[in-house]
Amino acid sequence: MISDYKDNPFYQYAINLKKIYHAYLFEVEDIDASYEMILAFAKMIICKNHFVDNSKCDDCNICNLIDNNTYSNLKIIEPNGATIKKEQILELEKDFSFKSVDGNNQVYIIKEAEKMNLSAANSLLKFIEEPEDGIYGILITTNRKAILETIISRCSLITLTSTKKIDYKKEDIENLSYFLNLMFKQKEASLPYVKQDFLKFYETRDSIIESFNIMEVILDILIKNYYQITDDNFLFYDIIKRNLSDISLDDLVNCLEKVVIYRNKLTNVINLNINLFMDRFIIDVSEVLE
Ligand SMILES: [Zn+2]
Repeated sequence: MISDYKDNPFYQYAINLKKIYHAYLFEVEDIDASYEMILAFAKMIICKNHFVDNSKCDDCNICNLIDNNTYSNLKIIEPNGATIKKEQILELEKDFSFKSVDGNNQVYIIKEAEKMNLSAANSLLKFIEEPEDGIYGILITTNRKAILETIISRCSLITLTSTKKIDYKKEDIENLSYFLNLMFKQKEASLPYVKQDFLKFYETRDSIIESFNIMEVILDILIKNYYQITDDNFLFYDIIKRNLSDISLDDLVNCLEKVVIYRNKLTNVINLNINLFMDRFIIDVSEVLE
């Protein structure tokens, strides 16, 4: 039996980010204990009836098939022996290369994702880097540190563990909150600041990638705040709120989408004109703001 998760703010939050992330990484303490919740999340992505009109679909054909593990649009991958192998990922890609028969989204779940061997992880990376419309991944792990950083950076991270260490520099949070606020308020007019100041703080490619990672964290915290999800462990919440308290949810989500797209561009391209890159980023963000 599936519990009612429609009121779980985490799910509403994560579903709202569906246009940005085609893969979610659930970090949990116990996979079996969390699995029912995660399967409910998969149903929310796949089934058009699920949780619509304030009701879950108890007697929905698709959700019943999912419960019986016989629904063709849901694939579950588990370690085969000690590891998850490349062939398993390739088989998934092959299965999902055919469009969904009923037009619903297709979802794959990878249990114990940290057990992917390197060639499996690289195959999966290619798959999630160029997401097809309507295909979503749910990776589940008890050990996020054992997963390739490049995979983590392409997933929306949903941490269901109790403790979460956050070790950003206060200075970075201050700079980037201020910068984001300028961008939200002044749009294209914030370009000169970026030229003069942003690139003074972040001048190397690596430091700019890190700044985009931190912007993602800041925006994510603000979006979660809309769903009343707060992280008490986060030290710099006051700084973020002081700078960015009155930004609409739509603006936050649209900006986050651009941050993720541009961060991924940064990590993929070696020779990049940083000045031009930042120009395009700010103009692109400005265009999607209300
Ligand atoms: Zn259903």
